[in-house]
This record gives sequence, structure tokens and C-alpha cells, in this order.
Amino acid sequence: MNHDSARAQFAAWLAGRRLRRLAALTGAGISAESGVPTFRGADGLWRQMSMAELFTPQALEERPLLVWQLYDELRTRIAATEPNAGHRALAALGRQRILTVITQNIDGLHQRACNEGVLELHGTLWRLRCDACGYREENTQTPLPTLPPACPECHGVLRPDIVFFTEVLPRQALFGAMLASEQCDLMLVVGTSGVVYPAAGIPAAARAHGALLLEINPEDTALTGEMDYVIRATAADALPWVAAALAETGA
Ligand code: NAD
Ligand code: ZN
Repeated sequence: MNHDSARAQFAAWLAGRRLRRLAALTGAGISAESGVPTFRGADGLWRQMSMAELFTPQALEERPLLVWQLYDELRTRIAATEPNAGHRALAALGRQRILTVITQNIDGLHQRACNEGVLELHGTLWRLRCDACGYREENTQTPLPTLPPACPECHGVLRPDIVFFTEVLPRQALFGAMLASEQCDLMLVVGTSGVVYPAAGIPAAARAHGALLLEINPEDTALTGEMDYVIRATAADALPWVAAALAETGA
């Protein structure tokens, strides 16, 4: 289907709907066109770099230098990327409508596209924290000078403020995400395979509270069956016109 007919079909689907509050759940796919590899994609750099093996509390304890090297390398690679048209379209929509962006990404690209109030379910590559005293610091320096850095407040060491495999999600972001999903009238589900829980359960929570679900993904996902509308296209391709159409529907 070409762009014009996809747009017309979507506009027809939107017509007459009253969508006051919007939410978007994003995953690795929204950053793919910025050059950040997805987790399960064919170019699965994250797998090559054994993220699943090293981003665990146990590895941080037993092999801290390897964990920091992987973390530092990811930061350096992602610092060299830019937000794409998908991130920018969501940021623009957020200035026009009530929109809560909930992301599973740790790359910070939504924020760099000037999206405010993004809920980061899995933390961010750009912040360090101390588990001993709760100290947190924004840190975008690449490469990091000493590994692992000492906590300036206590005798502990800092760690990446990202959710490692097996760890629980930050309560505030998860609470915000549940609230947004209960309150929204439409949730966009963009670039996520929908297999990492609890994030993958958020669209179902929105739907249970009456929201419509819209998927933007070039491929079928574990969540496709729950969707009210599916756009089989990439985020950078579809989000600019989807966001424009949603902005026009007014509040
Ligand atoms: P995933 O890798 O499991 O799935 C990516 C999804 O994106 C797939 O469904 C794929 O079809 C889709 N996709 C690929 N290219 C796309 C494009 N151009 N536009 C739209 N969709 C596209 O990702 P996930 O569901 O987010 O789960 C992976 C986990 O790993 C997350 O929890 C996340 O924390 C982490 N991760 C983060 C990043 C990041 O910060 N950018 C990258 C990789 C993995
Ligand atoms: Zn400390």
C-alpha cells in the first residue's frame, strides 16, 4: 500500500473518534533507524556483546570491569547517533496533545528529540547511581575515565542506572506508565516485540481500561493480535504522518 492510501485509510479510521489522552509505548525498533541495533534483530549487536550475560547483578558483582566495558562501549556508540523522524514526530505530538511516552529504551534518544516527561521503564545509559546511599548523577561523558567510578557521597561504587536482567523496574516510571495506560484513549505501540515483561503487559492494561491500541512495526509481534489498528511500516516512515493525523483530531 502506498503512503497516500495508508494515510487516507488511517484518517478514515480516526474520523469521529474522541481521543483526549494519548500514550505511546516504544521499544528498540524506534531507534533502529538512528543506527541503534534492536535486541533481537538480525544485526543483534547487543547479543554479540552478550548484554544478556553481562547486564546482570551477578556479573556486576563478579566481573565489574567487563560490565563497565560493555556499558562504556554502548554509550560511545549511541552518543554518535541522532534521534530520527520517529522520535521527532512523537516529541512534536507531545507539544500539541496530551501524550505520555513510555519507553523501554535506555538510549536517551526521545529526550534528545526534546520529548519531555518520558517514562524510562528500563532506566537510562546516561545516569549513574550508588546502590549503597541512593546517590544519582547524570553522566554523558564518553568514554568514562575510570572504571568503575567511586561514589562521591559514600564509600560505595557507582553503577549504570539501567535495569539489569532479573532486576525489578523503577517504581516511579512503572507507576507513571500504569497511570498513563489507565487514562489514555489511544496507545501507540511502536517498535517493540512485546516479549519483555512487565513492559509488554502495558498495552493490555490500556485496553482493559478502554483504550484503542495502534501498532507501528514492520513485522508482526506478540502483541499484534491485541491491536485495533496495525501500520506495517517503520517508525521513521509512519510516525510523522500518524502524529500529524493525531494532532489534527484535536482534544
Ligand atoms: P526488540 O529488539 O525485542 O524488538 C524490536 C522490535 O522493533 C521488533 O518487533 C522489530 O520488528 C521492530 N522494528 C525493527 N525495526 C523497526 C523500525 N525501523 N521501526 C519500527 N519497528 C521496528 O525490542 P524491545 O521490544 O524494545 O525489547 C528489547 C529490550 O532490550 C528492551 O527491554 C530494551 O530495554 C533493550 N534494548 C534497548 C535498546 C535501546 O535503548 N535503543 C536497543 C536494544 C535493546
Ligand atoms: Zn554512595
